[in-house]
Order: sequence, then C-alpha cells, then structure tokens
Amino acid sequence: MDTKSTILVTGGAGYIGSHAVLALQESGYNVIILDNLSEGHPDLVKDVLQVELIVGDTNDRLILDEIFARHDIAAVMHFAAYVAVGESVTNPDRYYRNNVVGTLTLLEAMIAANVKKFVFSSTCAIYGISQQIPMMENYPQDPLSPYAVSKAMIERILQDFDKAYNLRYVAFRYFNASGANPQGRLGEDHHPETHLIPLALLTALKIQKSLSIFGVDYDTPDGTAIRDYIHVDDLASAHVLGLGYLLDGGKSDVFNLGNGNGFSVHEVIETVKKVTQIDFPVQERDRRPGDPPILVGSSQKARNTLGWKPKYSDLETIVNHAWYWHQKRHGNMDK
Ligand code: UDP
Repeated sequence: MDTKSTILVTGGAGYIGSHAVLALQESGYNVIILDNLSEGHPDLVKDVLQVELIVGDTNDRLILDEIFARHDIAAVMHFAAYVAVGESVTNPDRYYRNNVVGTLTLLEAMIAANVKKFVFSSTCAIYGISQQIPMMENYPQDPLSPYAVSKAMIERILQDFDKAYNLRYVAFRYFNASGANPQGRLGEDHHPETHLIPLALLTALKIQKSLSIFGVDYDTPDGTAIRDYIHVDDLASAHVLGLGYLLDGGKSDVFNLGNGNGFSVHEVIETVKKVTQIDFPVQERDRRPGDPPILVGSSQKARNTLGWKPKYSDLETIVNHAWYWHQKRHGNMDK
C-alpha cells in the first residue's frame, strides 16, 4: 500500500466515521475530514484524531471542488448522512436532500475531479421484512422508511455511476452499529439520541428518566424487535479492508456487516442492566413507524471476499465498551 494515500472522509467527526478515521490512521493513511458538524464532534477530531477538519456540507459543490483541487485524494469514504429512522418518516424531505442529493453532489464532484474510488455507508434497513434470516446481499429489497429508501436510492445511483463513469465502490450494509473504542477514546453521542444501547446507558446514568420499548407485539419470541448488533470498531476495520480492495483494483460490490446473531430489545436491556449493574425503569410503547421486526444478516461475503473478521461479536463486550465511553463522556469518571 502507498502509505501516503489521502482519503477524504465525510462525516468523519460522527460516530462511525470517527472510528473509521482512527482505523485509517492506524493503517497508515492520511485523512481529511469533511463534516458539517450537524452531528459531529469537533472536540474529538481535535483531541483524538488530530487531522484536518473542513467544516462544510456534501451539498456544497464549491467546497467539494476546492477540496479535490487542493488535495490529491485517492478515495472517498462517505459517512455523512442523517440516520434516525423515526425522524425520516416525519421529515422525509430532510433525508432525501441530505442523504440523496448530498451524495449525488459529492459523486458529481468526484467524477469531475477524476476520483473514482468510493466506500459508502449503506444499511440493512433496505431489506425491510425478510422471510429468511440471516439476510444475504441478494435478498429482495423493501425499504420501509425514507431513511432506508434514501440509502437504496444511493446504491442504485452507484450502480449507474459505475457503468457510466467507471466509479468503483464498496457499499457496506450495516446492521446495528454499536459499542465504542475499547480505550474509551471515541464513542456514540448523538443529539438527540435515538438508538437503543446509548439510550439505555443514558437511562442507567439517570440522564434520562426511563427507557421506552417501541413495540411489544412483534411476531418474535418475546414480542420485541430483533437486531444484529455489530461493534463500531469491526465496522471500521471492514472499511479499511474495503478501501484496500478498491485501491487494489477490486470491482464494485455490496457487503453486509453484522454478527449474524439477533438480540431482542428486552435482551439488550437485560444486558445493559447486567453490565452497568444498574436497574432502571422501562415503559412499553407503540411500535416506532418504519421499524422492521427482525434484521439479522449474514456477513459471509465480506469474510470471504475482504478477509473481514469481527473482533467483538459478543453483546456484553459491545455494551461494556459503550458503557466505558458513556461514563467518561457523561458520567463522573475522570476524562
Ligand atoms: N428501540 C426501542 N427504544 C428506544 C430506541 C430504540 O425500543 O428508545 C428499538 C427500535 O424500535 C428498534 C431497536 O430498538 O427495534 C433498535 O433501534 P435503534 O434506533 O437502536 O437502531 P435501528 O434498528 O433503528 O437502526
């Protein structure tokens, strides 16, 4: 590998992006972050990642053109996106503009600058309700929320850009990103937070009063929705492998990234209570619009093609790392 290759990481100040930046640095890449800071944390870029942060939006073609003119960018990793399923149902315009139009603008700027390697954050939510578990990459798609549709639309745009402009891409369909850097240097900190594990931890820390369970009438063993939780550092290592694959001339492809194990909302809450050793109140609520009952994926293809091996497949370890980070970020532990 050319150890001096420079990678533009959009959304690199956010949750998954920041972990990927750290993994890229550890693999010898130079990184430049483009982030509009709607979700990103400049303090983490400054204190932990210590790379150049350009504050701007993927919808801003002028900023993009300037970045590509000034730097010799080998590839783009694109994390910048809105990710809250529920909000996407009530504010679809926000999701289509930011996720779809923003990505299209970025891709157009890349083609104009002759940058043709692209690693994309897609989602398992594009499968919707699947008859068979674990889900495979070739299963039918039925995205149930505007968030999921926005990602499916981008995957389609990528196929067309590959054919028309020789753009080579890897799209990773994440299952549920969770956990944190094991040393507590980076972690999840959304405002507002919508994800189950961090919300459970914030409830354990008494930052929020009680935790809602969205739906107890699903057709699952305990009635709550089932998800496949994958450690954010394992997502990050897959991105480095996907990038290497593209830089070595690999063809465009899509890969699931999950552990292949499903946990219900009840099971996650029990694990959080066990790890934190704190009991907290939970309230049963209606289902959240746009949520499929079960999302569990097979990642055999990423293992076979990219040589990816998740390091932290155990839910307790994932929650443990997230707990360590949350205590440092929000609790009383020394920073
Ligand atoms: N969930 C819940 N209470 C919450 C947040 C999430 O019951 O406060 C449920 C949600 O409905 C879904 C699962 O937990 O079934 C995982 O949701 P999350 O938002 O963490 O990830 P998503 O699957 O939407 O990517």
